[in-house]
Amino acid sequence: MLTVEEALGAILSRVEPLGAERVELLAALGRVLAEPIVARRAVPPWPASSMDGYALRAADTRDGGVDLAVVGRVAAGSLPRRALGRGEAMRIFTGAPLPEGADAVVPQEDVAAEGDRVRVAARVARGACVRPAGEDVRAGDLVLEPGHALGPAEVGLLATLGHARVAVGRRPRVAILSTGNELADLGTEPGPGQIANTNTYSLLAQVREAGGEALNLGVAPDRLEAIEARVRAGMAADVLVSSAGVSVGELDLVREALARAGAELHLWQVAMRPGKPITFGSLGGRPVFGLPGNPVSAMVTFELFVRPALRKLAGARALERPRVRARALAPIANPGARRGYLRVTLHREAGGLGARLTGDQGSAILRSMVAADGLAVVPGDTRVAAGEELEVILLRPLEPRAADTERS
Ligand code: AMP
Ligand code: MG
Repeated sequence: MLTVEEALGAILSRVEPLGAERVELLAALGRVLAEPIVARRAVPPWPASSMDGYALRAADTRDGGVDLAVVGRVAAGSLPRRALGRGEAMRIFTGAPLPEGADAVVPQEDVAAEGDRVRVAARVARGACVRPAGEDVRAGDLVLEPGHALGPAEVGLLATLGHARVAVGRRPRVAILSTGNELADLGTEPGPGQIANTNTYSLLAQVREAGGEALNLGVAPDRLEAIEARVRAGMAADVLVSSAGVSVGELDLVREALARAGAELHLWQVAMRPGKPITFGSLGGRPVFGLPGNPVSAMVTFELFVRPALRKLAGARALERPRVRARALAPIANPGARRGYLRVTLHREAGGLGARLTGDQGSAILRSMVAADGLAVVPGDTRVAAGEELEVILLRPLEPRAADTERS
């Protein structure tokens, strides 16, 4: 049996970034940068005032209070008409360039102005209320590296540096296939013996959330030719992900169908719970995944194996979800040898975070995923006592509940 790390390593070693495309700046939000960004200008470009007040020479105030001659006025968007000499000040506004010779600004509320004179009451330090040139970015700085995921702050920085378009990793196109005679797809009432198709939709959503473009291949019945035909249709995408039909039952035909379509396959028993066997292989240079059928197993194996592969295809450097440490709020047992990825809620506590199981951990209990803030990683044959620390993979932005919140 492979460890999760071994299986993930084997998958990632067979996946390479898809390449880049140039998009308009705002369309780059949520995408992965595919070029280094070297600042072509300093920010700010020149020393600028951070207050409305008077630009002056700090040395003139060395002995405390002083009267200065106001020799001009400079607002944001204009240039000072002249340099400052000794004993001189210039009216200045936030964001305006400092005149030559000035090295400090005194806020207007700290002076008494009268006609073309201004009285400064106290000593002003050099650099006071001045944003030095390059305070944020110096020209030539490497400000963003390829592989960096772009958020609103990065978009702002790219705009500041004049990038109307930017190179980002191509989004992986991912085809999702569900298999099973029992499945009634969305829009059809399940007939006798049928159940609703869950996995197509949770997996399509997981693809989108991971930054991919999702393609729905629908439901294939448990017939070899039918599955093989859908697998071939999936070759329009960069990645194929199927669910169900990967165990050893006589109706578990996904592996054989993938092989008939020409895939080179590995079946792994991965030492984890939920999610027994997973199939991974290559078909025409594309990664193909056969995930287990139970809705929680499908989602958790997607999280652990497919998502990092999609992030790598998109060119991201950080492939895995962030992890946090939390204390068990009640005992958490993981009987059996396999490592558990157990659904937990996270709670705010005095010294950090607390974690509590969402309830029954059955792999068909999808509401345990709905409730989960994260997956607690618990070694096999382990009973974590209340108060003990464990590691939790964050499934959503950390918005911990208060410690006394119970699952509804
Ligand atoms: P299998 O691996 O095909 O034996 O499927 C394992 C379990 O997952 C069975 O109870 C299936 O009915 C269920 N299952 C398989 N595919 C889906 C799906 N797309 N949506 C919901 N449940 C599914
Ligand atoms: Mg089945």
